[in-house]
Amino acid sequence: MFAEERAKPIRIEQNEALIRNLVDSHTKIPLIAQDLKKRKAGFNGEKSVDYHLSFLNSKKYMVFNDLKLPLTPHHFQIDSLLFTPFYTLILEIKNISGTLTIDSEFNQLTKNYNGVVTGYSDPITQANRQKLFLQRFFYDHHLVLPPIKFLVVISNPSTILKMAPGQKLLSPYDKIIHAQNLISEISKLNTLYTEEKATKKDLKRIKKVLLNKHDTGFTSILDTYGINETEILKGVKCESCSGKMERFFGCWHCTKCNFISKTAHVRAIEDYFLLFKPSITNRELRTFLDIKSPKTANQLLNSLNLKVTGSSKGTTYHKEFL
Ligand SMILES: [Zn+2]
Repeated sequence: MFAEERAKPIRIEQNEALIRNLVDSHTKIPLIAQDLKKRKAGFNGEKSVDYHLSFLNSKKYMVFNDLKLPLTPHHFQIDSLLFTPFYTLILEIKNISGTLTIDSEFNQLTKNYNGVVTGYSDPITQANRQKLFLQRFFYDHHLVLPPIKFLVVISNPSTILKMAPGQKLLSPYDKIIHAQNLISEISKLNTLYTEEKATKKDLKRIKKVLLNKHDTGFTSILDTYGINETEILKGVKCESCSGKMERFFGCWHCTKCNFISKTAHVRAIEDYFLLFKPSITNRELRTFLDIKSPKTANQLLNSLNLKVTGSSKGTTYHKEFL
C-alpha cells in the first residue's frame, strides 16, 4: 500500500485458496484458474513497474500502491499514486502483450497477439476518470491536491505500441508509455512543475487520510463464484499430496503419503480467513479442521498471534488484511 513492497493482492490469494479447497473435479475450477492467471499477470506487470519506481529518491516522492478508496456509492482503485509537493501522478499499469494499436479517433485500443485481435477500453478515458474520482475524494476530505498528471504504463517491454493508420501521436495519447521510460517521464514533470503546491504538513495529512480510508478489498469469494460453503473441503490438507492429515502427538500426519508436519494447520487457518471471513472462533475452527478437542483448537489459534476479542466461548480471533 504505502511505499513498501507491493503486497500480493488478496484476490489472488483467495483464488489460490479456493482451488486448494475444492475437489479437483469441481466444474468452476477452470474459471477460477483462468481469473487467477489474468490477475497474476497484472500483478507481475505492476511489480515490474515498481522496479523502475525503486530508482526514485523515497525522500522526494510519496508512493502508494493498489489504493482502493471509497467514493459514494462505490470505490475506485489506483495501481500507483505518487505525490510530490509540486504535482500528483496517477499510474495506470497495463500488462498487455503483442502489438497495441491506439485509435485516437474512436478512443479505442486493439491488441494483436499472434493474429488474434482483442479490443480494450481506452486507457486514457480510464485514467481521466480516475483523475476525476481523485479530485472528488480530495475535495470531500478537504485535502490539498497538487495538479494531477497521469501516465498509462505498459509493463511488458516487448509490447509494440503504434497509432492507427494515418493518425499522429498527439496529446493525451503520448501519456501511454513503456515502463522503461517512466523515470525520464517523471524527470520531465519535475522540470515542468516547480511551484510548491503542498507543504510537508499537507502531504502528511494526505498520507494519514489515504491510509485510513484505504479498503483492504475483502469480499466473499464464495459469493463471487456462487459456491456454497458445503462445497469447501474440510480438514487439514497435506502440502505434499493434498491428502487429508490427522493430528497425532502434536503433529499432522498425512493419511495418504505419511508426510509429517508441525505447521500444516497454519495454511488451513489462513485459507479459512480467505474463503469465509476474517475472523474465527474455537468452534468454527474445529468444524473446519475436523478436530474434536477444544483444547487443541485453542493451542492452534493461540500459536498464530492473531488479534483476540471476547472471552470464554465468545472468544474470536481476527485476521487483519492490509
Ligand atoms: Zn500426503
